[in-house]
Amino acid sequence: MPAKIAINGYGTIGKRVADAVSLQDDMKVVGVAKTKPNFEAKLAAKKGYSVYASDKESLGKFAKAGFQAAGTLEDLLKEADLVVDCTPEESGYKPMYEKAGVKAVWQGGEEHSLTNLSFNAAANYADCLGARFVRVPSCNTTGLIRTLYPLDAHIGVEKVLAVMVRRAADPGDSKKGPINAIEPELEMPSHHGPDVQSVLPKLNIHTIAVKVSSTLMHLHAVSVDLKEPVDEAQVLDVWKRFPRVAFVSGGEGVKSTAQIMELARDLSRDRSDLYEIAVWKDGVHVVEGKHLYYFQAVHQESDVVPENVDAIRALLQLEKDPRKSMEKTDRTMRIGAVR
Ligand code: NAD
Repeated sequence: MPAKIAINGYGTIGKRVADAVSLQDDMKVVGVAKTKPNFEAKLAAKKGYSVYASDKESLGKFAKAGFQAAGTLEDLLKEADLVVDCTPEESGYKPMYEKAGVKAVWQGGEEHSLTNLSFNAAANYADCLGARFVRVPSCNTTGLIRTLYPLDAHIGVEKVLAVMVRRAADPGDSKKGPINAIEPELEMPSHHGPDVQSVLPKLNIHTIAVKVSSTLMHLHAVSVDLKEPVDEAQVLDVWKRFPRVAFVSGGEGVKSTAQIMELARDLSRDRSDLYEIAVWKDGVHVVEGKHLYYFQAVHQESDVVPENVDAIRALLQLEKDPRKSMEKTDRTMRIGAVR
């Protein structure tokens, strides 16, 4: 019997997680909960998802719009083993999930302290096996962990400085941007460094963040002091041993995030998503053996989606081996074609 998964919040992340869960044979979507009966709710119903209203008040809005909701979130939770919470940060559903006796996966807008357990499939799947609640960290944090964990595990990392050039808003968001400005995050370190440490507590990392006028992707310029001398080929070999790191090349015409997104469109995946972190292989440089510099790009709307699928498997113990879970997720989502 496939595990029964509810999705609360059906926006940028929620709709992608719902579709990714639907591709798996060991879990199924029992329903999605929405606040408003908008076009996304209508499309969800067309796709065959049971659409629930968030609460009694929004049930009224659904009825007024002539949309027959299947019930409220409270009703949906009765049908589910686990809920993936894709609502905006601090929506405050934890007491409801506790009362309903369901497990839950939250997203990176939430603080680590909500669950005291943050998840990355390659780095700490085993620590999350059977847990009640977990958080998948943000897109940027997930991106940093994807390349830094392999380096630390196989070479050893002394120190990291990551400068994050962040997109101002998602493409479908006409409220927040893009901004006509470059906006530094004045907090030091930016929240991303401590967030990486919620999964890799021993990693010595400092992060700086700047917001720019783009919606496509985030870009990271990363400087790493390594414990052992290596060359560029050895660094690439380490990353190749891990899934969800893709390689692009300036020499082949991928000069910017615009070409990475063009490449993603050419892959013809759902919504043109790029679930992998894209590293410029000709942007990887090692100086004096131990100082590594590289650039990577993060598709903020989708890199956390396969992590959510693996987090569900870990919490419900559908698969104990992280490699097998990642392989299954990646095979079904067609991840891994860019090497
Ligand atoms: P979104 O605004 O695109 O979607 C949120 C959805 O939740 C919408 O359908 C909205 O109607 C609904 N919603 C709003 N208030 C609600 C409430 N009180 N109860 C129930 N539903 C409610 O947001 P998103 O970008 O999908 O972000 C969701 C979470 O994922 C946040 O924690 C965010 O930080 C995190 N995240 C976002 C991105 C990204 O780039 N968009 C990347 C990684 C993680």
